[in-house]
Amino acid sequence: MKRLLITTLLAVSATSPAWAWSNHALANYRAFEVLPEVAQAAAVPAEPLESFLAAQAQPIAALLDSQDAWARAHIAHYPPLPAALRFDAQVAQQGPQALRKAFLTALRVSPESRLALYVQPDPWAPAPDPATRLEHDVVSALPARDKDGGGHTFVRLRAGDSVAPLAVLASASDEPDYGMDLNLWEDSPSDWGPRYGFGKIPFGNPNLSFSTQAPFHMGYHHESSVIYMAAGFLKRTYPLLRIHQYAGLSELAFRTGHPYWGWRFAGLALHYLQDLTQPYHASLAPGFSSTRLIGINLMAMLGMPGAKNDMVILLSNRHFVLERYESQMIQASALARQSGSVDQALRDTSTDASHPTWSETYARHTVARQAHALGPAVTEQMLASVQPGYVNDPSFDFGVHAKDIDLVAEVASQGEAQRQVLESTIATLMRNFGAHSRNMLRGILGETTPP
Ligand SMILES: [Zn+2]
Repeated sequence: MKRLLITTLLAVSATSPAWAWSNHALANYRAFEVLPEVAQAAAVPAEPLESFLAAQAQPIAALLDSQDAWARAHIAHYPPLPAALRFDAQVAQQGPQALRKAFLTALRVSPESRLALYVQPDPWAPAPDPATRLEHDVVSALPARDKDGGGHTFVRLRAGDSVAPLAVLASASDEPDYGMDLNLWEDSPSDWGPRYGFGKIPFGNPNLSFSTQAPFHMGYHHESSVIYMAAGFLKRTYPLLRIHQYAGLSELAFRTGHPYWGWRFAGLALHYLQDLTQPYHASLAPGFSSTRLIGINLMAMLGMPGAKNDMVILLSNRHFVLERYESQMIQASALARQSGSVDQALRDTSTDASHPTWSETYARHTVARQAHALGPAVTEQMLASVQPGYVNDPSFDFGVHAKDIDLVAEVASQGEAQRQVLESTIATLMRNFGAHSRNMLRGILGETTPP
């Protein structure tokens, strides 16, 4: 059984797109503008990373040690932090560059992570002064890209500039997609990967640098036991590690008088929680039962790989279509200054209190479980509303053509009923996105009960 299944599961997991929601910042402006603790919080002074690290080197060292101990106890297949990477507060005496590098390697993120001072402005706000715009590579370690046709605008902050917590939080929530989790594996073509102790990449191509982040941005926590039996490597995903690391750093920063980094780390933690609200990031193959996966694989083993190859394309296309539609809608409403169903769902706090309060198990037991459970229904609703050519035709690769497709217009041309089906599906996911994000932030801020 194990040998039979492993090729198919590897193929499926290896080709999953590494993006989840296209631009987290846009969604977070909407999700948090309704939370007074964020929207009305006093502006904070921007602080360079190095000055936060220098001021709090000792408590940070203690926190990172305790996080490693926590992860050993709570995260399956957690590879302990190699002793050589432990953060030693004494490194502060070697200057800001050494300090920064020691911190990033102790977190086991890419040492090329920028963590620059910047914001991604709210597209509903007046356009920023062009003179304050930052080049892409000041903020991101990835080559400039335009994955969703939306583009990103970065605006410079200087140390000490006063900035709204909502802008810090929303901007940081998109940052983990800027190369922070790139090439962290033993077989990665990087100086740092082989030293990080994460082992070989569990799935995906170690030489496609962007796909190397996927195991940190997906969480296969609720697959059936037959799947895990066949492919234990699927358990080697680490969004829960990142959430724990950044949420803890956020609390430390708030507690020690560095509110800018409190909001910034909270935003980083939110990213991973939000990725898990995407059913295609919380499940291996939504809409395909384990039995069907096994059947498809058996055929591949018998020399008929057609169904396997088709499934890989269909999963990828559906993944893209869901995100593309959400992204197009949120950008269109910002441009028109008119709230649409996505914006309203993100602001909707009516279900916040229906979930458990934030805890160490929330991401896995509440968020990933809910997204995994929604996978089949979301898939059915996409099939019922979007042109079959985009979601049910394995000869078409949506990812390749996405930029040229006006998906909102295409779905509208299917008819009003179809449009409503898809929009209500996406609204459900965005309502969950907003509720879980606010609940996590309430947890970080030390509030246990949603109002
Ligand atoms: Zn992500």
